[in-house]
Amino acid sequence: MLFWSLIFMNPYVKLLLDAMKHSGCAVNKERHFSCEDCNGNVSGGFDASTSQIVLCQNNIRNEAHMNRVVTHELVHAFDHCRAHVNWFTDVRHLACSEVRAANLSGDCSLVNEIFRLHFGLKRHHQTCVRDRAILSILAVRNISKEVAQKAVDEVFESCFNDQEPFGRIPHNKTYARYAHRDFQNRDRYYSNI
Ligand SMILES: [Zn+2]
Repeated sequence: MLFWSLIFMNPYVKLLLDAMKHSGCAVNKERHFSCEDCNGNVSGGFDASTSQIVLCQNNIRNEAHMNRVVTHELVHAFDHCRAHVNWFTDVRHLACSEVRAANLSGDCSLVNEIFRLHFGLKRHHQTCVRDRAILSILAVRNISKEVAQKAVDEVFESCFNDQEPFGRIPHNKTYARYAHRDFQNRDRYYSNI
């Protein structure tokens, strides 16, 4: 894919890859990424059984879109690495990871910036994260919208506030760069103990 070589320069991606390595789940560029043609308008996916991230080369529109897709899927991979996630047996686990992926990947930040500018809606980001998490669940599970909504609402507060490994909501690349720097410093303190 055209933007492929640029992805590892992105601060969101760099931070998530560092964090995964730190948690003992180093990502191999060749083994853990797969570029495929996908059905419908799906842009990407995380296959928990192989720990592989699928990028839908036919639906990824540009470099910014690809960065968001890779970041979104890497949040799932990070969650899979650091915790025992019951992706298929407990919909709340999936809901939590979808809330985190929507919150931290920038999926809601572009819209958010525009809304903040025009309407000053501070809660817009939260609404966007909730809506996207519900849509993501419905895309991969054959359950009703009500069940998906209930799962997201049950976990929303704790999972929205769990911003690991960013430690903040990275609204743009500058925030993501700061988050990466803070993460590297955190690492340094630990290794000095
Ligand atoms: Zn997702």
